[in-house]
Amino acid sequence: MALVVQKYGGTSVGDAERIRAVADHVARTRAGGDDVVVVVSAMGKFTDDLIRLADDVSPTRPPRELDMLLTAGERISMALVSMALAARDVESASFTGSQAGIITDTDHTRAKILEMRPDRIREALDDGLVPVVAGFQGVSTDRDITTLGRGGSDVTAVALAAALGADVCEIYTDVTGVFSADPRVVPKARRLAKVSFDEMLEIAATGGRVLMLRSVEFARRHHVPLHVRSSFTWEPGTWIVEEDATMEDAVVSAVTDDTSEAKVTVGGVPDRPGIAAHLFRALADRSINVDMIVQNTGANGLTDISFTVAKTDLDAARDACTTVKDEIGAAEVSTDDDIGRVTIVGAGMKSSPGVTALMFETLSTNGINIEMISTSSIRISCVVRADRVADAVRHLHTAFGLDAA
Ligand code: ADP
Ligand code: ASP
Ligand code: MG
Repeated sequence: MALVVQKYGGTSVGDAERIRAVADHVARTRAGGDDVVVVVSAMGKFTDDLIRLADDVSPTRPPRELDMLLTAGERISMALVSMALAARDVESASFTGSQAGIITDTDHTRAKILEMRPDRIREALDDGLVPVVAGFQGVSTDRDITTLGRGGSDVTAVALAAALGADVCEIYTDVTGVFSADPRVVPKARRLAKVSFDEMLEIAATGGRVLMLRSVEFARRHHVPLHVRSSFTWEPGTWIVEEDATMEDAVVSAVTDDTSEAKVTVGGVPDRPGIAAHLFRALADRSINVDMIVQNTGANGLTDISFTVAKTDLDAARDACTTVKDEIGAAEVSTDDDIGRVTIVGAGMKSSPGVTALMFETLSTNGINIEMISTSSIRISCVVRADRVADAVRHLHTAFGLDAA
């Protein structure tokens, strides 16, 4: 008998029929003898709808209240899934994140889990119930309701799997696994049977939203086996595994795209020690995550510093830069939210020369201009115009031999 955590994303619980299908699958899993903990997302695009509603109601959205609002979405799903289980004679009980003992810091809308105290979930399992837990939420050390950031139900599932010592954490979604590119962008993308944690981290960090980045980090740290699969076909999907010596590393295994970031340029900055430190301290103090950074030294000892941030942080980043502009002696601050990023990921890149050249040649042959570049040992990212991102992904997918036959 195994303990399985099954997480169902928004599309998987998108309407009454989908919820009944989920309940059928949970019932089947139970009938097979396994214990199940279910984690659910809000139905369909309900979280987006709630955010729009908040925008309509008020120009300011106090983060504490926004969190309180958004957690309602997952509460609806958990109660409905539990009811559908009751109709199948599967005993279950629903739990909010707080009831499930998910303790977070106080950073509303992107809280981090500090501690797991899943006593009530363990008791429910001991009593033979299927606990159904609302994803994406917890309770802070100040006893306020928090959310874990967009896509955060993945984190809930992995954290529960780790805390309960589950044998596997299954992430059910609307595609059959992790693909060599977003199948919505590249119709010829292929499903990958296995992906290493290293590669999955890079895929998740650069736009492959099938798993939230923090859930992959958490799973790796706590050795939680992850299985991404479809709640429409129920066929085996993609396993995220530790890399082992027997794995043949593909030079490039996936191409990702991301248009969620914007670029900020602080121009005409004196080329002196401490300037970058001052600038990025101002951003860090406002909890703004900076992604790619490029600095060029031009003529007359002046330099330009460009970096990317999430579009949702753009206003705050512009404010921070404008505030320190005079202190660091910068000439100007400009922003550009019409950029996108295309990335190739592959563990085999480490030992294959020529990958960078082929990437740049492919982009240039197709008239796509590269504006920024960043690399890790198993990833190369290029910033290009937003309207060329989809093209770039498809051309790179072909150039690196990833297209399905
Ligand atoms: P859920 O609501 O189930 O959490 P998400 O929308 O968060 O689902 O993630 C699934 C989506 O991720 C897919 O519909 C797909 O369009 C997108 N996606 C992006 N990159 C990839 C990839 N490399 N492999 C699979 N899906 C991907
Ligand atoms: N419902 C939340 C969101 O849309 C969390 C999730 O689905 O994982 O971001
Ligand atoms: Mg998701």
